[in-house]
Amino acid sequence: MNLFEQLFENNKTWATQKKAIDKNYFKDLSEGQNPDILYIGCSDSRVTAEDMMGVQPGQMFVHRNVANLVPNNDNNSASVIEYAIAHLKVKHIIVCGHYFCGGIKAAMQSKDLGILNPWLRNIRDVYRLHKEELNAIADETNRYKRLVELNVQEQCINIIKTAVWQKSFLSNHLPIVHGLVFDIHSGTLIDLNIDVQGIAQSIREIYDLGTNK
Ligand code: ZN
Repeated sequence: MNLFEQLFENNKTWATQKKAIDKNYFKDLSEGQNPDILYIGCSDSRVTAEDMMGVQPGQMFVHRNVANLVPNNDNNSASVIEYAIAHLKVKHIIVCGHYFCGGIKAAMQSKDLGILNPWLRNIRDVYRLHKEELNAIADETNRYKRLVELNVQEQCINIIKTAVWQKSFLSNHLPIVHGLVFDIHSGTLIDLNIDVQGIAQSIREIYDLGTNK
């Protein structure tokens, strides 16, 4: 049996196990979702959002793309954020990067990658913003890891530029935006402790959309 065929076998086993623990499991799930968390992570097959955090179906709204980006003009991530904040009323937004991210690595190289170029340019822009700090790191692996972290930070900042976040945060101080990194070498999830809310205050004069007026 190849992996594709195995998927259906795996699914049967999984559904049976869930129903054995709670016979109403899928009936309850079908009635709706009420997740507290929006997770924005990389599409990388090694970074399994729900698995690595022990989160069950219904607990976390998930968006994944190459290198966990929230580009300013991307309707896809913008729609996810709008829905998560305005309708699901999530309390936390996690942007989760990971060390040894192929998207970040690609953006550090002089290579034409076709349709990926404009997407990865968002990461090159992060590099440009933090060029001094990054170029001062002599070790290439450490520089690469730091760019993964700074990319998470800039995507967190892109979230706080949105009207939907500003409106919600000014009225009830939610959702809180967190920047995390998954260390693929050890399996550890690291909180970068980025003071996103402090950054929001410091850049408010530039990005304030007047949502409290
Ligand atoms: Zn990645």
